[in-house]
Amino acid sequence: MRFHGTMRINGVGHLEIGGCDTVKLAGKYGTPLWIMDEEYIREKCRRFRKAFMEGGRRGDVAYASKAFLTLAMAAIINEEGLSLDVVSQGELYIALKAGFPPERIYFHGNNKSLDELKMAVKVGVGRIVVDNFYEIDLLEKAAGDRKVNIMLRVTPGVEALTHDYIKTGQEDSKFGFSIADGDALTAVNKVHGMKNIVLKGIHCHIGSQIFETRPFVEAADILLGFIRNIKHDFEIDMEELNLGGGFGIYYSPGDEPRDIASYADHIFHLVEDRAREYDLKMPKIIVEPGRIIAGPAGTTLYTVGSIKNIPGIRKYVSVDGGMTDNIRPALYQARYEAIIANRAGEEAVEPVTIAGKCCESGDLLIKDICLPEIESGDILGVSCTGAYGYSMASNYNKLPRPAVVLVREGTAELIVKRETPEDLIANEILPKRLAKDVDLPYASMS
Ligand SMILES: *Cc1c(COP(=O)(O)O)cnc(C)c1O
Repeated sequence: MRFHGTMRINGVGHLEIGGCDTVKLAGKYGTPLWIMDEEYIREKCRRFRKAFMEGGRRGDVAYASKAFLTLAMAAIINEEGLSLDVVSQGELYIALKAGFPPERIYFHGNNKSLDELKMAVKVGVGRIVVDNFYEIDLLEKAAGDRKVNIMLRVTPGVEALTHDYIKTGQEDSKFGFSIADGDALTAVNKVHGMKNIVLKGIHCHIGSQIFETRPFVEAADILLGFIRNIKHDFEIDMEELNLGGGFGIYYSPGDEPRDIASYADHIFHLVEDRAREYDLKMPKIIVEPGRIIAGPAGTTLYTVGSIKNIPGIRKYVSVDGGMTDNIRPALYQARYEAIIANRAGEEAVEPVTIAGKCCESGDLLIKDICLPEIESGDILGVSCTGAYGYSMASNYNKLPRPAVVLVREGTAELIVKRETPEDLIANEILPKRLAKDVDLPYASMS
């Protein structure tokens, strides 16, 4: 397994993250458990700031909170001076609860409700990224006599080299106004005539887990052409160009992430060239990294339970979590690496398949991974689970969601408590006519 951030093997042969022994963390907090490496998160934020916001570059970096959002995460992102993307009232609420300044929030989504838009207007969200004609009408209503700054989300028609489910920039997408069929220009025309809506810029998001700089540069090129058309037709300069997120990370062999600075260099050069060529004001460039900030910062610890060996076929190693805490392998055939945290230095000797505990044959976390000889009771660490793990977690099979611990310089802090069986029925109402007096043999199962 490749090590990320502050991972290392400590003196007793255990996996250590943020100066904390992960085997001890598993003992103290139980498993499954997410470990988030605070130093890694802060380091990545700083690299993005440096590449896009410093050295004379006018840019902004908005962390896409859907990758991983808790109060603590929002507070860290705020301290690092990044902006924040939210896609729902729920994400907006958590950000505001953490004290995140609303003016540094971008509000996304292809079907925002009137209530969500009203809340966004009321709290003063910095940019609403408008996705479709229906939303323009809703927003005009929600804004009333306030002025609202927006960006328009467009589809540039770029196909990112990634899995079908996580590419979004092509024509056939549920997101955004198409440039090619003229909808995008019609949308500019529509908002241009509105008194309470101020068009600040153009947004696109081409996909996720992208390793190349080329799709970003191509998208920027297409958007600059569009911005030139806007200037021609309406005599306005777009002040902002938002190229979305999707920066790829290493999960398993074959993934080759690129340096953040190289994305920034390629994007800025292209935009500077085109702005000069088309006689446009150089726009502020915004990017929205999610996975690349949260992903490799997270490791999930599981306890190994039953082991089933089918000679000549496969050895199934079951852990105490699964698709409820990591849906990505089942959803997009995502690959992961793992390590036996209590014997981190041992050599891999046999291929096994890591299975979850959910009642689905497809609940396999890692198919065919080579590990040291594994035993029931071992602590398995799966790396790069910080993004789209906790945020996509469910209670399928009524598994309580795991806890999340933030580690840094030898200190571990619980930032999300483990759910209890009581939490599972917190919103349930048993009609009186169906209720029975029950006396459970334990006061609490937590
Ligand atoms: C999902 C999303 C992102 C973040 O994508 P990552 O692959 O996590 O970097 C950024 N912007 C928008 C609009 C998104 O939908």
